Amino acid sequence: MSKTVVITGAAKGIGKAIAKTFAYSGYNVCINYNTSEEEAKSLCEELAKDGCNVIICKADVTDRKQVDKMIDTVISSFGNIDVLVNNAGISEYKLFIDIDEKDLKRMLDVNILGTFNMTQSVLKKSMLPRKDGTIINISSIWGMVGASLEVAYSTSKAAIIGMSKALAKELAPSNITVNVVAPGAISTDMLKELSDEDMKVLQDEIPLGKIGRVEDVAATVKFLASYEARYITGQVISPNGGLVI
Ligand code: NAP
Repeated sequence: MSKTVVITGAAKGIGKAIAKTFAYSGYNVCINYNTSEEEAKSLCEELAKDGCNVIICKADVTDRKQVDKMIDTVISSFGNIDVLVNNAGISEYKLFIDIDEKDLKRMLDVNILGTFNMTQSVLKKSMLPRKDGTIINISSIWGMVGASLEVAYSTSKAAIIGMSKALAKELAPSNITVNVVAPGAISTDMLKELSDEDMKVLQDEIPLGKIGRVEDVAATVKFLASYEARYITGQVISPNGGLVI
């Protein structure tokens, strides 16, 4: 029987590449989206045309009721959930002194509460009763080393690492692994606020000499969900071209 993966924020960017990688590997895939409905529908059509087993589910990950409803839909469509990829996230460039409480709360709501909601719902409804599962949380190199002008983002992404390590210990006796993928600079809408000049500076700082592709991150996620990675838990794997070593 095919395994099932739920990926948050999967209509575009890194999430979309992760969805395609799993779909073409024979997984049943739930593509979660919040606002990118058109992109989600067209990705679903593209994958279904190629014979993949895919559904799309709208849910704002900050809203527990919407999350629970989505997880119920996935379970009734595919039976259970084997892999959860918490990819949905937001970022913002601001001086620390300009960040207000609303900015900080929004950042923590999407990046941390969203991960908490999804993880607790999937654990309760599928992984814990079956004592089986793999959770992969998308952090960032900035959660490892901090970024100037991204204090709120770095805070949230560092929290993802702490949450994942603690959870890996708590869930290991239940045969559930939890790992973090912390990408470097990857070409998606998230980098669109950077000028061409900023992008050039960033690229020059990367030892491998290029900005990462969404497929580089998807391949790492796919590996962590594989049978070959069954002895890996509580780890942070960082596809970053050598930017952080
Ligand atoms: P992106 O293209 O901006 O995608 C962000 C995704 O998050 C979108 O699909 C969006 O869904 C989803 N999202 C945001 N708020 C949501 C909410 N409340 N509920 C559900 N989904 C929500 O950015 P990306 O670069 O692919 O980022 C994906 C992940 O990688 C993020 O966690 C990001 O922090 C991380 N990351 C990115 C980079 C990079 O350089 N690009 C580097 C390190 C880490 P809708 O569009 O449907 O609203």
